[in-house]
Amino acid sequence: MDIINPATGQLVESLPVDNAESVNEKIKRLQSGQSKWAKVPLEERISIISRFGNLVRENLEELSLLLSRETGKPLQQAKNEITGAHNRIVHIETAAAKWLSQEMVTADGPTRELIVYEPLGVIANISAWNFPYNVGYNVFLYALVAGNAVAYKPSEYASLTGLKFRELLWKAGVPENAFECFIGGPAVGEMLLEADLDGYFFTGSYRTGKYIAKKVAEKLVPVQLELGGKDPLYVMDDVLDVKQAALNAAEGAFYNNGQSCCAVERIYVHERIFDEFVAAFVTEVEAYPIGDPLDPKTFIGPLTRKDQLDIILDQIQDAIRQGARLETGGRRWGEKGFYLRPTVLTGVNHKMAVMKEESFGPVIGIQSVANDEEALTLMKDTDYGLTAAVFSANEKRAKNILEQLPTGTAYWNCCDRVSPNLPWTGRKNSGLGVTLSHLGIRAFTHPKAYHLRD
Ligand code: NAD
Repeated sequence: MDIINPATGQLVESLPVDNAESVNEKIKRLQSGQSKWAKVPLEERISIISRFGNLVRENLEELSLLLSRETGKPLQQAKNEITGAHNRIVHIETAAAKWLSQEMVTADGPTRELIVYEPLGVIANISAWNFPYNVGYNVFLYALVAGNAVAYKPSEYASLTGLKFRELLWKAGVPENAFECFIGGPAVGEMLLEADLDGYFFTGSYRTGKYIAKKVAEKLVPVQLELGGKDPLYVMDDVLDVKQAALNAAEGAFYNNGQSCCAVERIYVHERIFDEFVAAFVTEVEAYPIGDPLDPKTFIGPLTRKDQLDIILDQIQDAIRQGARLETGGRRWGEKGFYLRPTVLTGVNHKMAVMKEESFGPVIGIQSVANDEEALTLMKDTDYGLTAAVFSANEKRAKNILEQLPTGTAYWNCCDRVSPNLPWTGRKNSGLGVTLSHLGIRAFTHPKAYHLRD
């Protein structure tokens, strides 16, 4: 499999891909190693995860460079991702023992009642490329600490990083038969779906997620899906600083080139502040340094997937055809690589794909609304339910909107943010199940109910 640098179109490295034989062999090893790993005391498993975290931090320069070369992520954002993802490890260090230890529910009376949280077994972690540290850690670190063995399939666009995870986990003390990496594209993912595993944890697109859920349904094992979004942001007319609101909104839309599951994907602005907001927003976006991801100043690098360029250019053309106004961007940048200038559209409406379908790239539509009711109606008009944000000086007014939206996450005066302390979950086409928080710690366990009589 050729790993291509999205900034140059050049080959980074060629990797051997797994095949049916190697997949079976690796899975057998995981199946033989899992119960031994589960018997390692919980405190020791947590220490191993801490050691892994330290190794990652010690190798920050090398790992961020690798991530940047295979995904095109600007180097500074690659460093931010790696250092930021460490908060999952801190969460595990501080919370895992509490939520994975057995719970005595009733100790008096003739029957003691006790809950024990047992690992699921060997789980598949089929993952995405856009934030491989964040979305990978959310699954494989929490699964390992709960005593599972993990069949990790990194995205074909983040395989070098996936192999580094394996190297550093093994070095930290995770047994080689408790974590394995499966290299390849959809065909290798399919082999994991065929295998007899004890849980499927997927991060990626709605289309693949739905396919996986159907395919593994017969097995009756836990399935979790972290899928896409079309996350709305509504800027109310009472914001204290319109310019600041515009800068924050732009960052939420364009950080990581818009390739975040919780990126701001559509913006509604109260008509009273619309012109001022758009002017500040466009000025900000036009100032973003675009170019070589290895240049520390670069904010906008190339898209990771070449095929996404056409999807986004189609959305832009469709919007313009239907009357949208191109405020900035709208075309490719540079001679090589998969670059697209950050694009801002106004005069948009919900007949346009750019306001309804996930863009997952550097394009945003900004629509004017007359009041909160209109904003709410438009925010609700989506098949997705990952996050929604409201910027306002008034918490009550913002919450009145957020409470009525079927999303897993609600933001007041912030956006595009994930915390390990809170559940990460999507509704509707954004997914099934929970990672992070105490719920995400327990997501990788089966509760066993003990009724004990002396
Ligand atoms: P994708 O669906 O193309 O691929 C995801 C993974 O699935 C890859 O490892 C791929 O090889 C594998 N795969 C593809 N077809 C398969 C099949 N038939 N059987 C088994 N495995 C298969 O998604 P992507 O491009 O890697 O990621 C982008 C998407 O992920 C976006 O929609 C984004 O919103 C979403 N995402 C969601 C979250 C979240 O937490 N909700 C986080 C990150 C990304």
